[in-house]
Amino acid sequence: MLTAAPAEDDGNPDPPLHTHGHDPSAHAPVGFRHMAHDIPPTAPGHRPAGLSPASLAVAAGRPAREPGAPMNTPPVFSSTFAAGGAVAYGRTGNPTWSALEEVLAALEGPGCRALSFASGMAAITAVADLAPVGSVVVSQSVAYSGTRTQLARWAESGRIQLREVPTTSRAVAQAAAGAAVVWVETPTNPTLEMIDIAEVARAAHAAGALLVVDSTFATPLGQKPLDLGADIVVHSATKYLSGHSDVLLGAVVVRDADLADRLAQNRTLGGGIPGPMETWIALRGLRTFPLRWERSCANAAELARRCVNHPAVARVRHLGLPTDPGHDLATRQMTSFGAIVSLELHGGAQAAESVASGTSLWAHATSLGGVESSLERRRRWPEESTDVPDGLLRLSVGIEDVEDLWSDLCSGLDSVAPNL
Ligand code: PLP
Repeated sequence: MLTAAPAEDDGNPDPPLHTHGHDPSAHAPVGFRHMAHDIPPTAPGHRPAGLSPASLAVAAGRPAREPGAPMNTPPVFSSTFAAGGAVAYGRTGNPTWSALEEVLAALEGPGCRALSFASGMAAITAVADLAPVGSVVVSQSVAYSGTRTQLARWAESGRIQLREVPTTSRAVAQAAAGAAVVWVETPTNPTLEMIDIAEVARAAHAAGALLVVDSTFATPLGQKPLDLGADIVVHSATKYLSGHSDVLLGAVVVRDADLADRLAQNRTLGGGIPGPMETWIALRGLRTFPLRWERSCANAAELARRCVNHPAVARVRHLGLPTDPGHDLATRQMTSFGAIVSLELHGGAQAAESVASGTSLWAHATSLGGVESSLERRRRWPEESTDVPDGLLRLSVGIEDVEDLWSDLCSGLDSVAPNL
């Protein structure tokens, strides 16, 4: 086993990184037993399995409540650990990672194990590395450009055979035969296309393939791909989970122990590990994630409704709009409609650029999922899919006052409206 030295107490060569639902102290690294969360498993109303996500985000991943113990798991800056414990070296594990991973796993659902990575792309690369050399990977024509570029590079070098298909559930399902991995991103960045996870899971499994779902736009509060049949969930935790645009981080969540072990090995040997400080910052951000998510989603829904009637706007995409092509599937598959709004303007790319650079509260910046609202024309990046409309403006809606957001957005939209 490459991920961890044998645990001193039980000889288990691979102590779970996620201790939720188990005796946490049984697997905590020696010297850090107080770091494992201590929610009493029998206390009525305090069983982690029965807690809502809002409570889990606050309560999971805490040090045990021993007298004098800290309330928070600190960043543990150590590249090596005293011999004989569960973690020997800082590339195989770290107590701060474990605390973050415990919360991520708890939010994704019972029985999950989470692994944190240096970035979303590090997580994606470790997952894609599960595909045997020369095997077929199915993916969509619209997805995060970094993922598409990475898979295309691997195909060019012969590492995988890439089947990139139109971004529909049917096209993905039909392409699954003979594949080793089916890679889905839903909702898509930046067009908010929806893929039916249950449908593609059936097709992937019939073909003997693994189904991977990048659920970054939905977050664990908006969608539960593992419950719908996916084998692996990927998140860019840089976005909503950390939520403050101050850290890069990725996460992979699985239920299957063998997959978790293989991914942990990919992380250890690939070296895409997160830093203790980054995981601590993300853990701090995660405590308020449900609050931020609720507010951002509510703001996005309101702004989308208003944008529909703005004369500068030709098309609004937001999964909460009953007219959105993804609305019905989102209603069945998701528990919230997310905090992204995509706009196409009558004035096309030029108008989109003008709006993006003409706002003051909204930041003209790439990325998404921070407390601050931001926007950008996605096709300004040459690597973006040509399936994305040239003038598409992606709005990442934050937690500011919705009237302030609307007023600032209108100052940009009004300036490019043909009839104003
Ligand atoms: N997946 C999606 C859907 C993304 O939007 C991004 C980044 O924007 C990533 C993955 C990559 O994440 P990171 O930038 O944390 O490496």
